[in-house]
Amino acid sequence: MRLRFRLSALIFGIVLTFSPANAQEPIQIKVADRYTLAADQVYRHDPARHDATHQLTLTLVYFTGSDWPRNAMVEAARKVAEILERCGMLLWQVELVRVDAPRRYHYLNTPKSRELARTLQLAKPTVYFVTDTRHRPAFDAEAIGRGNSQTRPELADSVWVTRATRDVGVALAHELVHVLSDSGQHVDLPGNLMREQTAPENTQLTGAQCAQLREVGAKNGLLHVMK
Ligand SMILES: [Zn+2]
Repeated sequence: MRLRFRLSALIFGIVLTFSPANAQEPIQIKVADRYTLAADQVYRHDPARHDATHQLTLTLVYFTGSDWPRNAMVEAARKVAEILERCGMLLWQVELVRVDAPRRYHYLNTPKSRELARTLQLAKPTVYFVTDTRHRPAFDAEAIGRGNSQTRPELADSVWVTRATRDVGVALAHELVHVLSDSGQHVDLPGNLMREQTAPENTQLTGAQCAQLREVGAKNGLLHVMK
């Protein structure tokens, strides 16, 4: 599986300087349903027993009529909770947001995705479970942090997961680390979550990686420091 933190979006920025022909048409995007997962849907044990120092709230977006099974998103959230727990992070709230939108918005496609994010104005980090990507080269999942969103500010602090993604929970955790630490860095350490190629057995994070994502994530307002 190929994953990538997009370091350059200049070409998309150039495209976006031209207004779309349908700019005056009303955009048919709306939230259809919101559902907050209960703690026992995210954790198999009492999260109050965590030795957590930071809280993370996740917003998971999917589309009415899309082929993403809700259970796959819940399972992914569980895996993220398990992996990030080792960095002292508690998934404080996970909200599933179902969105009604025309199919052209069900893809990672910078102009349309910017419209989508601008219209929805959801809490960040926001994870979009999309059908596919229109970007080339096509990556199964992409993270957009602060450092690579200057030309598309609506997409800062978002993750895009396509249906082609395998090991969705591990891939999502990988992309969230990119977003929280605002870094596209990969490592070669065996078993590490941030190897360029994700794999089910690669779930470890070093103390330094945890420290970086806690520090940067809190500075960027994506993590809440617990008292
Ligand atoms: Zn990566």
